[in-house]
Amino acid sequence: TNAIFTGVPTTVFEVMSRLAIEHKAVNLGQGFPDVDGPEELRRIAAEATVDGPNQYPPMLGLPELREAVADANRRFYGLDIDPATEVLITSGATEAIADCLFGIVEPGDEVILIEPLYDCYLPMARRAGAEVRPVRVSPPDWRLDREALEAAFSERTKAILLNNPMNPAAKVFSEDELALIAELCVKYDAYAICDEVYEHLVFDGRKHRPLMTFPGMRERSVRIGSAGKTFSFTGWKVGYISGPARLVGPIAKAHQFVTFTTPPNLQKAVAKGLASDDAYYEGFVADMTAKRDHLSEGLSRLGFPVLPCEGTYFVSVDIAGMGLGEDDVAACRTLTVEAGVAAIPLSAFYPCRNPPKTFVRFCFCKRPEVLDAALDRLEAYL
Ligand code: PMP
Ligand code: GLN
Repeated sequence: TNAIFTGVPTTVFEVMSRLAIEHKAVNLGQGFPDVDGPEELRRIAAEATVDGPNQYPPMLGLPELREAVADANRRFYGLDIDPATEVLITSGATEAIADCLFGIVEPGDEVILIEPLYDCYLPMARRAGAEVRPVRVSPPDWRLDREALEAAFSERTKAILLNNPMNPAAKVFSEDELALIAELCVKYDAYAICDEVYEHLVFDGRKHRPLMTFPGMRERSVRIGSAGKTFSFTGWKVGYISGPARLVGPIAKAHQFVTFTTPPNLQKAVAKGLASDDAYYEGFVADMTAKRDHLSEGLSRLGFPVLPCEGTYFVSVDIAGMGLGEDDVAACRTLTVEAGVAAIPLSAFYPCRNPPKTFVRFCFCKRPEVLDAALDRLEAYL
């Protein structure tokens, strides 16, 4: 079997969700909302299932969804994307990331990852043959250091895989940081694979700005979105890639042999979702802001130092000195088994080398009564 995969533990999200079920814990570990997305979209998917057709849609995706993705690029970011050649629909952002790596990277190419990193990045980049160059950012501000980033680039850099807004750091990269990444991509003739699944989850008046909008980046970036995050349908696994035809072409060649296509009923509903009015997107951010504040304030009240959250639906706390165990993994076990609240140890996002061991991530996209139940349990335990 392949050592890259046999050597990797089962993903922390599955491990912690299983432990949460086993111990009837409130699950603030794995990131998923506890309320499904808009009913109107569920009805569209249901009707499309009953009415059909339920056969293979076009390999690139339903034309109406590709058009909706192009329209959303124009509406939110002023990007001009050709739906015929510059959009690809995938079975979730996870497949999109795999397709991008398989379509772009050749064995021996260097790929830059920013740590902490979403857990599928490293094994998938390695399986694509990449030599990974990690660059670390650190709390509380997770600032990207020019020297560290510059040191990671070389003549062999094929791509940087950037997650913005960033899970688990809950960071939104600043204009300066994005300009720096763009400058180095241009200088080293590298591509950018931009995982922007949390593009519509940025708070406090921030606006998401794709790296693709920076000078020189339109032709060398692909950006990835997910209906799982934007419409709270994580189980649907509908993702979308936008980028120049010269990149989407080879990426689609990978996609055609990974899944070939994505369920047409779900694509139809997501097409309608992307065209939602501003009230939907604004309401989504307002709701998540309230949930973020609810959980952050509650954790703070219990004595946890809470890190800032600029985007995504995660907040992290420092558990040093809270008496929850020798490290973040032990603390998450204690929290789940003893306190009845599941969380994710941040060390799981540092697969390359010596992770920090005192940070724990909580997911806040839950109903207020669920957040209260979690806080009550924590209070009773601490
Ligand atoms: N990228 C990041 C940063 C994520 O947090 C997630 C988690 N859901 C994904 C990709 C995967 O998205 P999807 O469920 O659409 O595959
Ligand atoms: N992205 C989600 C998280 O960070 C988990 C997705 C998964 O379980 N694969 O919690």
